[in-house]
Amino acid sequence: MLGRTHLAIGLATTAAVITNPHVLPEALITAGISSLIPDIDEEHSLIRRKIDIIPGLPLGFPLLLIADYFLWHYKYLSLLAAILFAVYTGFAYFTKHRGFTHSSIGFITFIIILALSDKMLLIPAIIGYGMHLIADLMTNAGIELLYPLKRRFGLHLFSTGSIIDQSIGLIELFIFFIILYQNFTGMRIPFRTFTRL
Ligand SMILES: [Zn+2]
Repeated sequence: MLGRTHLAIGLATTAAVITNPHVLPEALITAGISSLIPDIDEEHSLIRRKIDIIPGLPLGFPLLLIADYFLWHYKYLSLLAAILFAVYTGFAYFTKHRGFTHSSIGFITFIIILALSDKMLLIPAIIGYGMHLIADLMTNAGIELLYPLKRRFGLHLFSTGSIIDQSIGLIELFIFFIILYQNFTGMRIPFRTFTRL
């Protein structure tokens, strides 16, 4: 699925679930980044194009390790979280697309890193990352949910980059802006009211 579709799904779902406007900005940033992170395993993905700086060179890998070191050094990450982050990054960069990062074990590793660091970010991170895996599960290519087993799971509903993929992105973006509009104006929308129950 396209990076921008993942981003729109992550933001819309988070805006629908997190009802406290004071934590919403931080939650949206976390969910937005988390919704793109699984595709670190693909060199042409939206997130890799941002962090690799020079296209085609995996510069993001050493940069993430340096960031990891300083996050540990300045105590934003515990030693265990920093080690897990380094391991996660290594697998993400040097395993096949839709393998480790798109699996149960990749998801759990990512969530443990956050649980050891900042529990406030857990829910939006679970939403962002989890919705990415669910969305990719819908596609023809599927994902290696039980990595290291090679078997791919997928519902084969559409292809990445297809008109359906792009339409989902636009619809989710529309929903996201409606929810934000409701937050600012206090207007009530049926599905939003439901999430407050
Ligand atoms: Zn993906």
